[in-house]
Amino acid sequence: MRIVKKGLTLKIIITILLLSSNQLSSASDLSDSHQTPQFTDSLHYGFKIDLRGDYRAIMRFKRWIDIIAQVPSGISTLWAISQSNHQLLIKHSHFSVISSGRTSAPMTRNLTNGIGEDVEIKFNAYIPDQGSHRVYGENRRLIEFTAVQNLFHELAHAKHKMTGHWPYSRSEFAAIKEENVFRKELAELQNQPYFRRTHIRGESICPQTAEQIDTSWGQDLICNS
Ligand SMILES: [Zn+2]
Repeated sequence: MRIVKKGLTLKIIITILLLSSNQLSSASDLSDSHQTPQFTDSLHYGFKIDLRGDYRAIMRFKRWIDIIAQVPSGISTLWAISQSNHQLLIKHSHFSVISSGRTSAPMTRNLTNGIGEDVEIKFNAYIPDQGSHRVYGENRRLIEFTAVQNLFHELAHAKHKMTGHWPYSRSEFAAIKEENVFRKELAELQNQPYFRRTHIRGESICPQTAEQIDTSWGQDLICNS
């Protein structure tokens, strides 16, 4: 995907390669860039992942993954991804706000036979930290679905597909089950209340008036005026 802003096309790929359990290095692909910022990074996580978007998008992805890696379910998901023989690409996509992130892979038998496939997550990196949607919890109460929770949910799908353990028709429930473990662990870490998600569907977060809709990240795509 290409991000095009007036006069500026910037594509940065950060490749984080696992060298050991606590040492990672990265490289950048700036071939489409008008500017050539020297972007390097290192993280102390045992995972292998590519991030694509402009600089700000990548920084936001990275910050959210940093948070995901603070809890056991986050680390184990990232670790399982790194131990697969496949690559994960997380791409910024303005339009992914409509479905709150999308995880895709070639539809082959490898998704379910333990071999796995390369996976791509399209995710809107510019949604607010509190997220673009709420989802339903117990007693059909709307609960938070933060950007971090949303991204973890997509990483759970990615893990299933990259390791060849995609649960097919139950994939959404499997991802939500793991998301709830993550929600609980992160809530405890942050000393916040835990809200268990019980439904697949959710609702867009929209302001009271059309004038308040934030088009900078695509809120207009999910909020009717
Ligand atoms: Zn899902």
